[in-house]
This record gives sequence, C-alpha cells and structure tokens, in this order.
Amino acid sequence: DYKLQEALKKRDTYSKEEFKQKFKIDFEDLPISTNTQRALKQRKFIKMTEIQRCVIPHALAERDILGASKTGSGKTLSYLIPLIENLYVNKWTPLDGLGALIILPTRELAMQVFEVFKSLNTYHILSMALLIGGKNYQYERDRISGMNVIICTPGRLLQHFEESPGFDANNLKVLVLDEADMMLELGFWGPLKAIMNYLPKDKQTMLFSATLNQSIHQLCKISLQNPESIFLHEKL
Ligand code: ADP
Ligand code: MG
Repeated sequence: DYKLQEALKKRDTYSKEEFKQKFKIDFEDLPISTNTQRALKQRKFIKMTEIQRCVIPHALAERDILGASKTGSGKTLSYLIPLIENLYVNKWTPLDGLGALIILPTRELAMQVFEVFKSLNTYHILSMALLIGGKNYQYERDRISGMNVIICTPGRLLQHFEESPGFDANNLKVLVLDEADMMLELGFWGPLKAIMNYLPKDKQTMLFSATLNQSIHQLCKISLQNPESIFLHEKL
C-alpha cells in the first residue's frame, strides 16, 4: 500500500481546505483499496457528500472524529469506508477476531447500516454480525465470538460483554457511535458508559450525531481522544 502511505503523508502537510482542493472530491480520488472502490462503483456512489469529503481523509489517518451533520447527509459511508480501510491496512483476517464495533440506537438503524456494510464488504473478507436483541440471546452468543465487525444496539452489546463467555473486544481497532444524540435521548448513557470499560484505550473512535448538546459533550469526554471536529449544518 505504498500509494496509500504517500497520500497520507502528504495530507499532513496541507490545511483542510488545501487538501480538499488538491485531493478532491470523488470516491475515486481517495487513497483506498480497490476492493472498496469496486464496491462503491457497483453501488453507483461517485461523488462524495460534504460530510464524506471532510471526514474521510482524517478518518483514514486513523484520527478520532466528532462529526455532526443533518440527517440524510451521508454520515454512514463517512465512517464505514475508513473503518473497512483501517482493518484492511491492518491486514485483518477472519481469524483476528473483533476489529470494529458500530453502535446505534435502534434495531432499524442497525439493520440499515448492516446492509450498507455488507455491500462495502463484497470484495473484502471480513465476517460480520448484527446484534440487536429481539433475536434469541443464546443463538447470538453461539455465533458472535470471532466476528470481525459487529453492528449493534447498546443494551444487547452490554449483555454480551457481561454474560457471554469468550466474548471480548481486547483487540478492537475501531469504535463508531452513530446517532449519538438519539442514543442519549433513549436513555443509553449508562450502558454506553459501561461498554467503554470493556474496550481497549488505544483505538480509533468516531462519534456522529445530528445535533450537539451538553450530554453529547459528556459522551465525547469518555470516548474521544483529541478528535477532529467536523460540524456541518448549512447544506450538503
Ligand atoms: P445520514 O446518516 O447522515 O442520515 P446516510 O448515510 O443514511 O445519511 O445517507 C443518506 C442517503 O444518501 C442514503 O440513501 C445513502 O445511500 C445516500 N448517499 C450517501 N452518500 C452518498 C453519495 N456520496 N452519493 C450518493 N448517495 C449517497
Ligand atoms: Mg445516519
């Protein structure tokens, strides 16, 4: 991945604006794997949205991210692409266990993100699981250990950390907290705080929200280290 390394090096020598102009605009121009490029083309994703342009370069450099933009602006790909590339660059294989966790407030949202992730993973080899409660706990427990990417809701994830033998996140590389404002509104502060204690300190964390307020700030404090903050509220 010589090309990727070179591009990442260059990125650090430009300001955000300069980088945006020089290294632009379409998914095609990103220093990412051909496996991901092929999947994006297949889904006909060509031009990045504003949040994707702003987030993806920083996230590819494995920085923590605090991202806020309105619903429908394309936050999902802005974290899924860097997540899959992070594991790819780390040469993650199905034998390496849990590499990334994506936590969302509701089953429906988790199922949507699972579908998008599945399509990005078409030419990669990561194993993935959806943990959303509703399904039989034991059924899940017997299948999650060793999964590379888990997409889940907070309550069920915490239950697995507390009760499922052999399930741990000791090698986790990437954590995503999506729809953070909704998670707090739904009363998940306690579970999220508890989940943090099961995760290693040294990892990349990306936190996304449609809005920012005082309680989000609390969640940032316990989850992010020196994040790149990207707030877009005007337009796409
Ligand atoms: P958010 O999480 O900010 O609410 P999503 O990630 O769910 O937004 O994206 C909203 C919609 O926009 C989805 O249907 C998605 O497929 C589409 N979308 C996202 N990024 C792009 C893009 N770069 N080009 C075209 N469509 C996109
Ligand atoms: Mg979203």
